[in-house]
Amino acid sequence: MHIGVLGSGQLGKMLALAGRPLGLNFTFFGVDPAPCAAGLGEVIISDFADIEQLNRFMHNVDVVTAESEHIPLTAIQHIEAAGKLLPAANAIEIAQDRLKEKQYIQQLDIPLPVYTHVDRAEVLQDLFNNNPREYIIKTCTDGYDGKGQMRVQHAGQIADVLNTLGEKNLIAEEKVEFQREVSQISVRSGSGEVRHYNLSENLHEHGILRTSTVLMNDPLAAQAREYSERILQALNYVGILCVEYFDRDGQLLVNEIAPRVHNSGHHTIEGAITSQFENHVRAVSGLPLGSCAARGYSCMINLIGEMPDINALLDTEAAHVHVYDKASRPGRKLGHVTVCADSTAELQNRIKDINKILKAV
Ligand code: AMP
Repeated sequence: MHIGVLGSGQLGKMLALAGRPLGLNFTFFGVDPAPCAAGLGEVIISDFADIEQLNRFMHNVDVVTAESEHIPLTAIQHIEAAGKLLPAANAIEIAQDRLKEKQYIQQLDIPLPVYTHVDRAEVLQDLFNNNPREYIIKTCTDGYDGKGQMRVQHAGQIADVLNTLGEKNLIAEEKVEFQREVSQISVRSGSGEVRHYNLSENLHEHGILRTSTVLMNDPLAAQAREYSERILQALNYVGILCVEYFDRDGQLLVNEIAPRVHNSGHHTIEGAITSQFENHVRAVSGLPLGSCAARGYSCMINLIGEMPDINALLDTEAAHVHVYDKASRPGRKLGHVTVCADSTAELQNRIKDINKILKAV
């Protein structure tokens, strides 16, 4: 079986690292001239608009999956038309556009933050006149890692927002006073079987995921599974899906969905029986799904901007280091470390040790 991956970054690399032991081969397609996934299969370095290259890619593989939702829809639809795309184009189309995503979630009767579609400046002005409060204004497309969004507390800031984000195709979301951000990683097979990982709690810094900690016996686990399952079944989805939720007073609200393996699921490599990467390639290859059960307590910490002292990290008990081989740049995810433990107290002590090493950078 040969899997084609749209994108050639660290997620593609980790998919291949999980799939190669199962006898699966990989070809990647991406624009990056220095791809992270190099060495794990052929990498076609090309623009997604190049149909000839896309056809060459498609003909060499049995199934195509994406490591990013920011792949041009024309390329996604071209591959789907050939009957090779999993998960299907509808999931990617929805995740590419915050408005479509919100309408889809709403239609499934799943709670989400109150929002208004802003298609001209007056809509935002009216919103502040009628309901003055704090809003998060987001572009409908192309936003990630906190980019393409701004917080607005009063009408005086509107001009600045419209200058920065444009006037059209925005979403104004009421700021949610949540206690926690959690994500549910789940997998669905082609035959409709769904399995769920433990919820994880996510902490962000400057809009970028910093840590993701596995939650044991969380009171909201059943609610998250129920909502995520509704989305997976409605989309007839195949593969790993991540749903990010806000926990406001015990009620989950969907923040966004990612139709792919997700950064908040990296802890599953060492922290679960079967990693999200292995379960994704199993699902899209038609292989049986593996157990999503946690092996114990674990926490994933991203290495952002600059690489710390790797030797010191490796000297920490039960710390597993993943280096993406990417050039340093402020705000860029260069790797991650997952630390495992047998108890919360042990985990917290090991996280403290790791944070000391990271602060020394
Ligand atoms: P997003 O790109 O939509 O995931 O937003 C990035 C981060 O901004 C989220 O992880 C939250 O920490 C914060 N955020 C986004 N939307 C809201 C909201 N409606 N209320 C409060 N915080 C938000």
